[in-house]
Order: sequence, then C-alpha cells, then structure tokens
Amino acid sequence: MSLKTLKGDITKLDADAIVNAANRTLLGGGGVDGAIHRAAGKELLAECRTLGGCETGQAKITKGYNLPARYVIHTVGPVWHGGAQGEPELLKNAYKNSLAIAREKQLSSIAFPAISTGVYGYPKEEAAEIAVEACLEFLEEYDMEIVLVAFSDGDRNRYEKLIEDRAGK
Ligand code: ADP
Repeated sequence: MSLKTLKGDITKLDADAIVNAANRTLLGGGGVDGAIHRAAGKELLAECRTLGGCETGQAKITKGYNLPARYVIHTVGPVWHGGAQGEPELLKNAYKNSLAIAREKQLSSIAFPAISTGVYGYPKEEAAEIAVEACLEFLEEYDMEIVLVAFSDGDRNRYEKLIEDRAGK
C-alpha cells in the first residue's frame, strides 16, 4: 500500500502530479489554488484558459511549469451546503477522477491537498474519510504513490489515524 500523509506546502513537492483544489473557472483563486498558480508561473494560467473550465467532481490536467511537479491535475470539489446536496459523492469523484487521469497518464506519484476543506467549508473529518476511502479503493486496483498533504498538524494527525485504522482492517 502506498498511501501516506505529510504536512507541508504542496507546491514544494516533487511528485509526478500535484492536485489543485480549483474552482469551476480554472482561472485561479485563493488558498492552495493561488499558491499553485504563484509557484507555477503565468504559463499555467495561460494553459488553464484553454480548458473551458471544469465541472464539480471532474478533473483536468496541465503541465506544472515552474513547479517541481511535472503536472497539475485541477479538480473542483463541492462547496459544503450541509451535506444533503450530493457533497460526499462529488468530493469522492474529485479524488477518483484525479486518480483516473494520473493512471491514464501512467504517472507513478500524486499528491492531494485537502480538497474543499478551506473556503469551500467541507467538514475536515468527513472530508478526510472520503479522501482516504477514495485513495484506498483506487489502490486496490492500481499501483501509485499517493500522498495526502496536510497543511496543519491537526490535519496530518487526522489523516494518519484514518490511514492506520484502515490499514488495520
Ligand atoms: P477549497 O476552495 O477547495 O476549500 P482551499 O484552497 O480554500 O480550497 O483549501 C483546501 C485545503 O488546502 C485547506 O485545508 C487548506 O488549509 C489547504 N492549503 C492551503 N494552501 C496550501 C498549500 N500551499 N499546500 C497544501 N495545502 C494547502
């Protein structure tokens, strides 16, 4: 099994692909999206302009430009509206569709931020459970090095516990 977590800035990671928690325009924003665009440089925005946006739960790939990562997989997580508007399925799809693109491109490593848990307001515990579940289901069928990137100690501890619990089953 190659699911792990680490705390840090995803823009510094030397993975085949890092995932961007983007919005539907794919034209940049705050949070991790802003950090990725700043670190990648203007060419990333230029490529994103050619993509025509992205639906919630879907994903699209670009090059990584000035990032250490070769590619950026842009996905759009759901905005949290209380949980009864399809948020869990949409969040899981964001992970699954990002992983599917990585597999199609025959990448061997991918790093995810905690999609939807910032401005989009998804409760962190529920979001972490979905992230771990989607990754472990993918790893049952395919081999990939997946990193769940936490941005605080609390986030990292949450992922660690979930991964340990699941690994023990
Ligand atoms: P969303 O709009 O999907 O909620 P945000 O960017 O607001 O996206 O937040 C998603 C998560 O990314 C949050 O948990 C936030 O703490 C985290 N985050 C923000 N910047 C970075 C970064 N540079 N590296 C990794 N994670 C980050």
